[in-house]
Order: sequence, then structure tokens, then C-alpha cells
Amino acid sequence: MLSMPYERKEIAPEKIREQEEICRRIFDRVTADGGRPLAMVDTYGCQQNEADSEKIRGYLAEMGYGFTQDEFQADVIVVNTCAVREHAEMRVLGNVGALNHTKKARPGQIIAVCGCMVQQEHMAKKLKLSYPVVDLVFGPHELWRFPDFAAEKNLGAVAEGIPQKRDGSVKAWLSIMYGCNNFCTYCVVPYVRGRERSRRPEDVLREARELIAAGYKEITLLGQNVNSYGKDLDCGVDFADLIRMVNDIPGDFLIRFMTSHPKDATEKLFRTMAECEKCAHQLHLPVQAGSDRILKAMNRSYDRAKYLRQVALARQYMPDLVLTTDIIVGFPGETDEDFAETLSLVEEVRYDAMFTFIYSKRVGTPAASMPDPYTRADKQKHFDALTELANRISGEKHREYEGKTLNLSSRTNGGRLVHLKGDPALIGQFAQASITASNTWALYGEIE
Ligand code: SAH
Ligand code: SF4
Repeated sequence: MLSMPYERKEIAPEKIREQEEICRRIFDRVTADGGRPLAMVDTYGCQQNEADSEKIRGYLAEMGYGFTQDEFQADVIVVNTCAVREHAEMRVLGNVGALNHTKKARPGQIIAVCGCMVQQEHMAKKLKLSYPVVDLVFGPHELWRFPDFAAEKNLGAVAEGIPQKRDGSVKAWLSIMYGCNNFCTYCVVPYVRGRERSRRPEDVLREARELIAAGYKEITLLGQNVNSYGKDLDCGVDFADLIRMVNDIPGDFLIRFMTSHPKDATEKLFRTMAECEKCAHQLHLPVQAGSDRILKAMNRSYDRAKYLRQVALARQYMPDLVLTTDIIVGFPGETDEDFAETLSLVEEVRYDAMFTFIYSKRVGTPAASMPDPYTRADKQKHFDALTELANRISGEKHREYEGKTLNLSSRTNGGRLVHLKGDPALIGQFAQASITASNTWALYGEIE
């Protein structure tokens, strides 16, 4: 098993000293001669990581840093990593290795690597031993330590009050909970992000109000499984209640959320989505596989029939629902017959978009020690077949939009990308647009 740092109450004193020293150097830059120091925050992986990067940017901005996308200009580079698939880890290692050049060109540059990847002990070790270019390594739980290195707090607590610097001017991520309790057998998230911790509704609402006041038009409520929001709190507010509370905030904005675990999506949630006029009729409901045998081996806690019932119920409440999903191809032992069930489920549901992944073995997860007799080539064949089916369905769906008029701001209410011709002054505004053409990936329109 992986080590589980979230169960540890203390951080080793030498690590605290090391972090304090680097933090001091980051601070010192602000007061050094030579103008405003610049930081670059490079993010890999999920929306949760994007949200964490916004917090890191917020803190750096508060310290006096400006931002750059050019690693040769940056005084501080923060690489926020992802561990969900091996591919992301390989990219991170490659890119961190390449920072040797920038550090040589800019002596004194500080390089910090944080996020899920370094929360795995073997990766943290590898970075320290093989990548001397890296000055500081810290996990997702230590984010709060960035502004508060000296304080003694418990790991796994929810840190409030970290400032955030948003990346886009229209869309904002808003984390409502952290961690995951589900232990799907392929997934490293519960090990690197710890157990579920919900933020208190009043904190979520305060942040939502601030975002709306600052002009954000889209707020995406984030959690690994938003449907279990509030179960660890004592205030009786569940996720559907939270949506309604955000919906009640005055202003012109859209609410989205992810991710919804099919095992505990409720009728109350679908009814609330249908009734709340600011809630997008969009649901990301990852199915992962179509075969009951594989779903069981994945420990997903629902079967195909239950999943299809959820989809039917959601569509009953929202006939215009935009439905998206995640699918893993090539889970250990997945046969041609199992995979055929994934294809038939996709045909039956007809998703609006799908995120498809080839299974990636993660150290310490139960699936990593399951027998896996199939080759990478077998899995690739399945993956290609699924991609082809996804593209065919998406193209067919996009054609249904042609000739329609929609109220949107660069994406439809359901999240479809729309390329628009119109006045640039309208960026960030909602506008009426007619859809003139489409392809597999996007819609094309003109503002009326
Ligand atoms: N909490 C979300 C998903 C978080 S990870 C949920 O349960 O739906 C995002 C997606 O990455 C997952 O839905 C899954 O499809 C994929 N994924 C996670 N671990 C993986 C692995 N080891 N190999 C391949 N894909 C994986
Ligand atoms: Fe991973 Fe499953 Fe938790 Fe999603 S629900 S983060 S896939 S363990």
C-alpha cells in the first residue's frame, strides 16, 4: 500500500524548516531590487488542481508577485502535478527535467513541485534524488502551509481564507469539498487527496457571492463526488440544497458542477437542477465501464441497470440535459465481451461528450495487483473503436443544433464549445446567437 500522509498529524521538523527556508526566499524576492518578481504556475490534471493553482496564484499575488507564462522570465515556478494516470506523471517529469535550462539561464530561480504526484512517497523520493533542480516539494494537503508555514494545524483540515487569483475572467472553479472516500480499485485519488471533507455552506456561499460580485458568469462547484457533499457536516445541507442556495444569490450567472458519482446521484438533485434557473442542464456522470463484472471489480457500487435508471430519471426532469462521462478502457482482465458492453451502453445513452482513458496502473491501488493478460495493443484497439463511436455520436448531435438560436457565452448552457462571430466587447456577456454550422468538436454561430 501507499503511505497515507493524511493520517499523519505532524510534518517532520526538518521538512518544515526546509519549507520555511524556501518560503523566505520566495518572500525575499519581493523586497529585492529589480522590480516586481514574476511567478509561473503550471498545472496538470483535473479541475481540482486548477482550483488549487488559483489558490497558489492568489497567495503569490498577495505576496507581491506578478505572473508570466515564460519560464525564462519567472523568478518562481510552481509545477502543480497530477497522479491519476502515468502519462501525466511522465509529462511532468519531462518538463521538470527541462527546467534545468531555465534555472541555468536565470540563477536563483526557485522551482517548487506540488500536487498529487508528490504525495506518493516513491515519486517525492524520485524527484528529490534525480531532479536537483527542484527546490521545494509539497503535497495537496500542505497547500495551506504555503501562506502559513509556522502554524501547527492538523493535516486533512479544510483551510479557509487562502486568497485566490482566478485565471479566466468569465469562469471560476469553486471547491466545495476535498478528497474522496470511494476507493475505486484503479484510482489513486483517495490516497493522495485523503478522505472527504466538505467546506461549510456559509464559506462556499461567501466565496460564490464574491465571485459574482467580481463579474464571473460561470461558477463550477467542484468535488470528486459532489453528491456526498455535507455528509461529514452536521448542518443538514446536502448537495441539492447547496445548489439551491447558490441559485438564490442575485445576479446573472450559470452554475455547473462536477463530478457526480452515479452511485449516489438522487432524484432530489435532478429535480433541483430542473427547478433552479441558473443551474446548467449539464451532468458529468462517469460510468467507467458498461459491464457489470468490470464495474464490480472497479468497486463502483452501481451496476449498468442502476446507471441507466439514473440517466433516464435525469432526462425525465431535464429533456434538454447535456450528459457527459468518463470511460476507462482496458481495466485488468477486461475481455472483448466486457468491452462490447461498454460500446452498447454508449450507443444506448448517446453522450454529448466522453472523456476516454486507457487504464493506467497506479502503485498501491488494488487493481495494480489484479491479473491483466491483455496487451497494450489489445487495449488500443478497443480505445480506437470507442473514440470512433464517440466522434460519430458527437457529429450527429451537433448537426441537431444547426439553425437553432441559443442564449450563450462561448459555450452552450450544456457546455458545448461555440465559435462565434461578433463584437469582441461581448466577451464575458451572455448573447443570443444562431448556430450556423457544426462538426464533431464544436458549433459555429453568429451573434444576432
Ligand atoms: N471523482 C471522479 C473522477 C476523478 S479522476 C469520478 O469518480 O468520476 C477522473 C477520471 O480519470 C476518472 O473518472 C477515470 O475515468 C480516470 N481515471 C482515474 N484513474 C485512472 C487510472 N488509473 N487509469 C485510467 N484512467 C483513470
Ligand atoms: Fe477516484 Fe473513484 Fe474517488 Fe472518483 S470516486 S476520485 S474515481 S476513487
